[in-house]
Amino acid sequence: KNDEIFNVHQLFEEILAFLYPTIVDVNAEITCVIDPACELTGSRDEIRQVLINIISNALDALQRITGERLISIEASQEGKQANIAISNNGVPIPPDVLPVIFEPFFTTKELGTGIGLYVCKEIIERHEGTITCESSDERTTFTMCFEQIHAFH
Ligand code: ADP
Ligand code: MG
Repeated sequence: KNDEIFNVHQLFEEILAFLYPTIVDVNAEITCVIDPACELTGSRDEIRQVLINIISNALDALQRITGERLISIEASQEGKQANIAISNNGVPIPPDVLPVIFEPFFTTKELGTGIGLYVCKEIIERHEGTITCESSDERTTFTMCFEQIHAFH
């Protein structure tokens, strides 16, 4: 099934349950502000993979810091546009690295593949969406916007 309408809140509940052992392990505190009406059209399995990749990267980043480890998840729906933002505190991504994080095989991790964000971008673009990253001393945020005017193909 590749073309379905699914609820984003329900999807996040499933994902956070799946990631729960890691979240506990990292001792991350997760805050969610998710519009219960937020829906996406496309492959639920693929979007699930995207969100798991981004939250897993946030958890990896948090492992590198001491003190509070925070992840914030926001999802909203404005007309036909759905927006999802996932952020974490921690070590910022340097400005010279930021432009290459979506490139295949780019990784800064000893055991990283560098495939995660490349696949995320590919999936999101097939869903008529965009993904961007902003990083400051305070937080790193991945923002996804889906303009769901066209049907998924
Ligand atoms: P991998 O996780 O295997 O390294 P990804 O494609 O998922 O590959 O991510 C590429 C790189 O982007 C990571 O190695 C890391 O340097 C950077 N990155 C991604 N997400 C974050 C984040 N939340 N905080 C800091 N760096 C990040
Ligand atoms: Mg990754």
